[in-house]
Amino acid sequence: MGERCDFFDYDNCDLCGECLSRCRYLGLDLKKAREEMKRLIDGRPTKVVHRRCISCYACDAFCPRGCRPYELIISAWHRRYRERGLPVRASYLMPASQPNFRTDLVETMSPRERELLRRWRETPPEGELVLYPGCNALALPHLLDAPFLKEVVISGDFDLCCGEMYFRMGLFDVVEQVAERLTRHFRGRSIGTMLFVCPAGLNMFRNVLPGLFGAEFSFRTRYLGEYLWEKVESGELAIVKRHSGRVAVHDSCHGRILGEEVQGSARRLYAAMGLDLVELATDSAEGLCCGMAAGCNRYRPEDMYRAAVREMREAARTGADELAVYCGGCQLTFSLMRWLHPTRQPVRHLLEYLKEATGEPAYYPASRRALRMLGNITVKAFPKMLSRRTYRISIN
Ligand code: SF4
Ligand code: SF4
Repeated sequence: MGERCDFFDYDNCDLCGECLSRCRYLGLDLKKAREEMKRLIDGRPTKVVHRRCISCYACDAFCPRGCRPYELIISAWHRRYRERGLPVRASYLMPASQPNFRTDLVETMSPRERELLRRWRETPPEGELVLYPGCNALALPHLLDAPFLKEVVISGDFDLCCGEMYFRMGLFDVVEQVAERLTRHFRGRSIGTMLFVCPAGLNMFRNVLPGLFGAEFSFRTRYLGEYLWEKVESGELAIVKRHSGRVAVHDSCHGRILGEEVQGSARRLYAAMGLDLVELATDSAEGLCCGMAAGCNRYRPEDMYRAAVREMREAARTGADELAVYCGGCQLTFSLMRWLHPTRQPVRHLLEYLKEATGEPAYYPASRRALRMLGNITVKAFPKMLSRRTYRISIN
């Protein structure tokens, strides 16, 4: 019997195998899925899961009993980190590193975007409606530069990380530090509702940090898309320029976990703007990952590339004109991979569509920004690929 995972519900799991048999990366039938689950629960080495899992998180959404099989899988990576640390080749991609692949993008931004970052950094998180930008929107500040957000206080900086990347990599000790830091940061602040543009941030603040890592937040949490959909539905926010064309809808990993609030409101907004939606999976819980999380298992860029290309090919097969995303991380990942595997579908963010539809000028910097990101990663991370050195992350 191996070390038990603190987060998996051992008592409630009936070994039905649904979680792993529905996984689109493992390729297991129900019988093999049950065997693999048994191995995971017993703490024995798996035959398939830890070779093929790309950390997409969907198995948590598949489990009908809410047992958290995902956490059970990634707890093996937690043990690996505790024993060996993290390879230095991953350091440039970690939010705790300064600079990192996102902060290095600031120099590519317009003066207006840099001014927004300064303002958000200096604005205290106080008010009835506060928005946590998270590092993906901080890398794409234009997303939040919209008149329809004028009633919202935006507050945050790159060093106020939600810990999502650490969680997905199984670096539970680091997530614990993040939980402590964020609890301290928001303690005593007068905040009614915290809005999240990024489903990852929403899931971390609502479920993961308080539920698994002891964070304490006194505010309500809500997805920005749902807030905006209400404004559109009530007529408070007018669609003045309808879009046309077909878009393939890509769901984020955390969107799948959060379900209707995120997936439903994003789709309603796309449709209200005139977009014709094409689904990439029969069941939206079974959609594929953008590839960002695929590096969590072996820390290898080729795993991220393969996962991204698989989803981009699925999107291309639909014949849709564009690939629509609502997560800035998915947009940056696809935009980067399109430089390596060109497709004819531009990748557009929900808020880019909405800004245009509400009368704002079109501005799509993600593709060029992703090219710079690719260049930076090539220069700053690839030279460390062969290094055997490891390190540990410290947040506080
Ligand atoms: S995290 Fe994703 S890839 Fe890994 S086992 Fe679960 S569903 Fe499959
Ligand atoms: S974790 Fe959930 S879906 Fe997976 S075997 Fe257990 S009960 Fe079934």
